[in-house]
Amino acid sequence: MPPSVDQFRSAFLEELHHVSTERDLQRLRDRYLGRKGGVVSSLMKQIAGAPEGDRRRLGQLANQFKTEVERAIDERVQALKALQQPLGSVDISLPGRPVAQGRRHPLVILRDRLEEIFAEMGYASVEGPEIEDEYHNFEALNIPPDHPARDMQDTLYLSQPVEVRRATVPLSDPFDFAQGGRAVEQINRPGTLLRTHTSGMQIRYMEAHEPPIRIIAPGRVYRRDNLDLTHTPMFHQVEGLVVDESITMADLKGTLIHLLKALFGPDARALFRPTFFPYTEPSADVFVSCHKCGGGGCPVCKRTGWLEVLGCGMVHPAVFEAVGYDPERYSGFAFGIGIERLAMLKYGVDDIRMFYENDLRFLEQLPQ
Ligand SMILES: [Zn+2]
Repeated sequence: MPPSVDQFRSAFLEELHHVSTERDLQRLRDRYLGRKGGVVSSLMKQIAGAPEGDRRRLGQLANQFKTEVERAIDERVQALKALQQPLGSVDISLPGRPVAQGRRHPLVILRDRLEEIFAEMGYASVEGPEIEDEYHNFEALNIPPDHPARDMQDTLYLSQPVEVRRATVPLSDPFDFAQGGRAVEQINRPGTLLRTHTSGMQIRYMEAHEPPIRIIAPGRVYRRDNLDLTHTPMFHQVEGLVVDESITMADLKGTLIHLLKALFGPDARALFRPTFFPYTEPSADVFVSCHKCGGGGCPVCKRTGWLEVLGCGMVHPAVFEAVGYDPERYSGFAFGIGIERLAMLKYGVDDIRMFYENDLRFLEQLPQ
């Protein structure tokens, strides 16, 4: 039975129809016109073994087929070349590249959230200088000269005293400062260090204002720490201060329990454990029930069921004396929240450095 050239022709045309690249076309050419094992050359071989009467006719058909294949492939090569974009041209049929959208950093989101929670409770948000003097950072807060926090090991002192020019102006009321005569005197003290906590703002604000006081003071603070899993030389705190007549520990607890529920959900519970701070008495470390295990104990809370979130206490009478308040008449509470620490607990991050590396793969995983 002589091979049917027509069958090969229709198979070839079908394959040619599906070719869309020069590479595929080259493969098709090799398969049909290749000298060794090509369809046309094996066709010729078969014809050589055909009965003598048919050979001539079949040979003509096969040659004709070979010419057809060559021509069809050449035409398709030209057609593909015509479709090619000139070098450097723009292919307007390509889908667009999505533009990455900027958004707030997780630490900024958390700071904004804290400001929001406290604004709802009637707190003003104030900012103060990052370059501080020893008086506002330590002395007035009842931290004596021999206290370990004042050691060169912990505090970044400036080699030259710097005049602190930024005023203690509450953001909500920028004109109030002009009326506070005492504030102006204090502000011109030379700064000698980078503030180690935001607590200095308690002093600055009380120097410029009379009670009642209800403020938070968010901002950067600095310590002489090397970068590791839980330390950075710069991090963020939110200081809180409430002063009025007859403020009690119950007010402090109620406020912070509300804060923890707002941050960690309505089922969050708080634990207050006595501790020591020079500027508060009594003082407490505050723990929130572990949101991973609900308090049952898990690796996140080191099997205790509790996570330490912040420090707080009732304002020490010595602090009131430093700013000229009557400790017999006024009482108050203060607290300090580390924003990074809070973010690590809330988002389950165990390396503080992740917040500073600006790695989008990390940042995009955190909620907006
Ligand atoms: Zn747990």
